[in-house]
Amino acid sequence: MQEGTIELEQLLEAGRKIHLTLFGNLILGLCILIVIGNALPPILLTGWVLLLILPLLLRVALMLTYQKATPETLTQWQRYFIIASFLTGLFWGIAAIIVELYAPAIYQGFIAFIVGGLAAAGIVTSSSIRWNYPAFILPMLLSLACFDFYQNDTPHLLMATAIIIFTIIMLSSAIGFRKLQFEKYKMLQMLRASYDELQISEQQMKDITNSMGEGLFVFDTSGELIFLNAEGERLLGWSLQELLEDKQEICYKIHSQENGLDMKKHLIQKVLVYGETLRVSNQQFKRKDGTLFSVSLTAAPIHSKDGIESKGVVIVFEDLTVKNHLEKLAFHDALTGLYNRGDFDKKLQEELNRALRYETSLSLLMLDIDFFKNINDTYGHQAGDEVLKSIATIILTSIRNNDYGARYGGEEFIVILPETNTTEAIVLAERIKETIEKNEFNLSNDTAIHLTISIGVASSTKGISPEYLLEVADNALYKAKENGRNQVWFDPS
Ligand code: GH3
Ligand code: MG
Ligand code: MG
Repeated sequence: MQEGTIELEQLLEAGRKIHLTLFGNLILGLCILIVIGNALPPILLTGWVLLLILPLLLRVALMLTYQKATPETLTQWQRYFIIASFLTGLFWGIAAIIVELYAPAIYQGFIAFIVGGLAAAGIVTSSSIRWNYPAFILPMLLSLACFDFYQNDTPHLLMATAIIIFTIIMLSSAIGFRKLQFEKYKMLQMLRASYDELQISEQQMKDITNSMGEGLFVFDTSGELIFLNAEGERLLGWSLQELLEDKQEICYKIHSQENGLDMKKHLIQKVLVYGETLRVSNQQFKRKDGTLFSVSLTAAPIHSKDGIESKGVVIVFEDLTVKNHLEKLAFHDALTGLYNRGDFDKKLQEELNRALRYETSLSLLMLDIDFFKNINDTYGHQAGDEVLKSIATIILTSIRNNDYGARYGGEEFIVILPETNTTEAIVLAERIKETIEKNEFNLSNDTAIHLTISIGVASSTKGISPEYLLEVADNALYKAKENGRNQVWFDPS
């Protein structure tokens, strides 16, 4: 906050309040005029009225022009304002001297009372602008003090000394008052500025975040929603306006807390307290229509300009539905829904590493449909596809959760069996082989066919490479084919 800006604001404020000053000055001036008017020579009376009116008119003119002041022209206006205060002060000093000279002694107490009152009231009305208050009371009080000194008798000397002491007290009070005013004003200004800043940044935020592919919330320090971007509105089906109407409930409205994470308590408040960025994945958000979708959340504090205070929390949420679907497409075989070969190679390496680390056995089944070409040739490619899907289902329902089935080639499948030794692997392979053998494959053209499968089994030995394990399984499969098909083969070498 620029000090100049505050000064300008003070000047404008003083301008807005000037009618009070005008009114007060005129009433006081008239009172004195009524009291001492008769005692004054006409020329002095005219001069006195002029002295009262002119600085006041100057102030009115300035008041009207202040409203156009900018920080650049501020110093100039401030100078004029102070000059006007000086002239007013001077007028009251001269007025007091005139009263002393012409009015009966009883009125001198009256003018002392008025001048003292003006000096005291001036602290409140004129001290907020720098140098303004001294410019007003110094000419007023010092001219009076000078006059009293000039009289050179004891009562007047005492009066002059009292005036000087009074001036010093008033000046120091004004300095203290100005400081207080200034601090309060500065604080108010800062508050207003930060509010304005928020308003501006809300508009800016809208512009910036409108092109974002993620949803974005902004919460204030009390955890209340203040902003949601366009993508967030689209993903949630709620408009910002609708959510703002029920601020308290927003977190419960949009966040399904199935896994026990409370957005307000565990994200917003934590971020505000620790000032750190938090990330959580696999959260469920609820749309307006009640449907759920997976999101990952990133919550980060919004800092004040100095970077110390948290002014709020921004939460970015990414819809994982599309990502999950794309991942599925990338790693899964479109026809059978099994994993595809790309993912299989990675998985085999991982499982072999794990088996080595935990010293467990791992087995591999390689399956190839017997005479599959015939099915295609006899019933068509479409029928072949249907068979492939049925076989994939049989494989999937035969293996355990931890096992991993993939489509390895056209009509070849592969299964990784972690923590499974050869004997167990052969038992499973036999079961799959028998299930397929007994199964009646009902094709969509109302024909039912039977078919068989050949399976090669391989088991890991310490430090075996994935390539070698595959080669062993492939060789076993070849042997199964060679030995008449519809069988499980394992080479115990
Ligand atoms: P075997 O394995 O018993 O030696 O005989 P096969 O007839 O199964 O032999 P081969 O492995 O040579 O034939 C595989 C056939 O599978 C060839 C190809 O037309 C067919 N095929 C491969 N991928 C697909 C597919 O995605 N859909 C369909 N319908 N057929 C496929
Ligand atoms: Mg085949
Ligand atoms: Mg084949």
